[in-house]
Amino acid sequence: MKILVVNAGSSSLKYQLINMAEEKVLAKGLCDRIGLPGSLIKHKTHDDRSVTKEIEMKDHKDAIASLIKVLTHEEWGVIESLEEIKAVGHRVVHGGEKFIKSVIIDENVMKTLEECIELAPLHNPPNITGIRACQHNMPNVPQVAVFDTAFHQTMPKKAYIYALPYEYYEKYNVRKFGFHGTSHKYVAERAAHILGKPIEQLKIVTCHLGNGSSIAAVDGGKTVDTSMGFTPLAGLAMGTRCGTIDPAVVTFIMQKEGLTPEQMDTVMNKKSGVLGISGVSSDFRDLDEAVKQGNERAALALEIFAYQVKKFIGAYACAMGGLDAIVFTAGIGENNIEMRSMICEDLEFLGVSIDENKNNTKGIEIDISKEDAKVRTLVIPTNEELAIAKETMKLIN
Ligand code: AMP
Repeated sequence: MKILVVNAGSSSLKYQLINMAEEKVLAKGLCDRIGLPGSLIKHKTHDDRSVTKEIEMKDHKDAIASLIKVLTHEEWGVIESLEEIKAVGHRVVHGGEKFIKSVIIDENVMKTLEECIELAPLHNPPNITGIRACQHNMPNVPQVAVFDTAFHQTMPKKAYIYALPYEYYEKYNVRKFGFHGTSHKYVAERAAHILGKPIEQLKIVTCHLGNGSSIAAVDGGKTVDTSMGFTPLAGLAMGTRCGTIDPAVVTFIMQKEGLTPEQMDTVMNKKSGVLGISGVSSDFRDLDEAVKQGNERAALALEIFAYQVKKFIGAYACAMGGLDAIVFTAGIGENNIEMRSMICEDLEFLGVSIDENKNNTKGIEIDISKEDAKVRTLVIPTNEELAIAKETMKLIN
């Protein structure tokens, strides 16, 4: 069975066509600059045929039409006809409280998705546009929505209610939702598989550390707490996002600098995090380079990040009343050897102890714990596209 996975952004659309029998990516690509001059498609197949081509794409419908063309193309195609695509799985950022798991999309689902726009005004509209574009170009193919928030809907109220007047939760749905759910679920399930134990018996802290970072406490296969909140701005300091700060700082800076809510939003989302602290970059590789050149603020940014991750691990071990495994995933979690060391340093009291030789690897699935460590520390490359495709297959079956 072949499943198309679509991740639509405001002016871009990423896709993968996956053959589920072997869980093999047949082709993947990106439609970029949709609706802008110079729109283009970048496409690569499993056997290393690739093409980058300027094609006029006025909107997401044109983008889907272009990717269909390239998937079935004589030279760059991987399928004979569209009939081979059995379903499309869509990444949808925010499902609010309405969606606790993935769903097959119908008009009712579309209506509810539109209602969720208020919760994710930047992310949900392009996701919806991507779904509509697929419905337009593939009217007979089932479409499935897989939500970033769904996996975290198992959190208890004590974890997701903010200490604000309760009416804001009732009126506006202001609460913690959490994000990166597809990734946290995927790596937690992989961890159980690697450890050879039923997930129901495991207490796992999953650390999705990338440009956006979040941590989840996964107890018995269910999220009981997670670091992101009402929006993906909360929790850890990230590439450019400030993470959790004293909320009073927000109004203080707005007054001092004469900023509008939109401008303050930009400061917190785009100019903060390790970029804000270091003044160098949001990319941890650049920060490593700057540290080598003696840049103290870059070193401080890395120290702050490691310290915050460490604190979440401790907090979530307490929240779950125990800890069996820590999982590192995403760009930094999978590849940043030094950062994993910094985070795990001095955690022996918790049963965490990593073998520096085993830790000296990038981008592979590996248990980096010392033989006798009580808590297993795992590196597991995330694969959100495969997770979306699996969910999609499960639903249409
Ligand atoms: P992501 O958002 O998951 O793509 O992660 C982006 C972050 O991962 C950046 O800060 C990069 O520095 C880091 N990263 C990605 N690939 C590598 C790599 N091969 N080696 C070290 N760091 C990496």
